[in-house]
Amino acid sequence: MRRPLVIVLVALVTPVTLVAQADSAPAPDRVAQLVARLDLERYKATIKGLTAFGDRRQGTDRNRAALDWIEAQLRSYGCGGVARLRYEYQPTSPAGPRPARDTTHASGGGRYRGIRARTGVNGDSLKQPDARVRALDAQPSTAGAREEVYCTKIGTTHADEMYIVGGHMDGIGWGEAANDDGSGTALVMELARVFSSADVHTDRSIRFVLWNNEETGLNGSRAYVEQRRALQGSKQEPKWLGMIQHDMMLFDHGMPRADGTLAATQRPEADVNIEFQASAKFAAEAQELAWAFERANEKYATDYPASVGSHMTNTDSAPFQDYVPAISLRENERGTQIGSGWDPNWHQPTDLYATYNDADFRLGLNAAQTTLAALAGLTGATLK
Ligand SMILES: [Zn+2]
Repeated sequence: MRRPLVIVLVALVTPVTLVAQADSAPAPDRVAQLVARLDLERYKATIKGLTAFGDRRQGTDRNRAALDWIEAQLRSYGCGGVARLRYEYQPTSPAGPRPARDTTHASGGGRYRGIRARTGVNGDSLKQPDARVRALDAQPSTAGAREEVYCTKIGTTHADEMYIVGGHMDGIGWGEAANDDGSGTALVMELARVFSSADVHTDRSIRFVLWNNEETGLNGSRAYVEQRRALQGSKQEPKWLGMIQHDMMLFDHGMPRADGTLAATQRPEADVNIEFQASAKFAAEAQELAWAFERANEKYATDYPASVGSHMTNTDSAPFQDYVPAISLRENERGTQIGSGWDPNWHQPTDLYATYNDADFRLGLNAAQTTLAALAGLTGATLK
């Protein structure tokens, strides 16, 4: 008796299935449509716009002018609730002799391996050969009042919950801070543009923040955490769901060679490094968030893969890591790779827009695709 029953079922099911396929396929992939709104030339133009303000060092007129320019861009994208966080910055010099630098353990908990080249911050104006850039970066920093700008995509069903997406707009080193962190700032601005489009809706909110004073010790992001952490759940501050930081997105030319030099071009196996901090209070949740970003990269990033690591450090997501799942995206791992001299332009006069080519800029674009796709999924983005 079994066989006739099977035949009947097949006869009933088959035509319906065929009709359903004809009606619904191909379902448009909303996330892919959103990701397609990112564009290499636009991303480059935003980085170029930031470099017009030189290194944007905190506490200078060029930093304040850059802040005004960023705010004007966010408004032009239609990003909601543009506002500024205000805080005081007073540099402190450590009392007593400086502790000896630990050269065996990488910052963030990783292990150094292979060849290492020297790193440091350039403080010598004469190392900048371009007189125009030297003049642009000439004004020294003055202690005092500071501001940083943010705007928010308001969610339609859970406006009171948000992801925070950041990059730092200040730089140092007598260059143009094109990579550190023009590349991360431009990424955040491009995402603000795409999500602020009138036909894009998200269930949950997204706050786009351009931190100031990162280079002096994460003072801008710390100020945000101090001022707003306790306000979560009130009318003034949605509940934080996660914090995603972007810092130095362009350059992955590999490990230094034995003579300390680096490859002139992006290595073909370049990747986006997604890091969480294994010692954070929210390490398990942050790791889960990191893998969600890795999956988004697998599906939607056009050129470069992502790698997940556990040593997030020295970046604006750190002040958040014990309160909320926090991750960072970067061209290399911060502790073991950047710390080993994998980016020779880091805090140097060579961090100029002209230093990078399309293979470099494309790594930053792939990081933007990764974060945009992951956020679209996490916030329930739809296109109308
Ligand atoms: Zn940076």
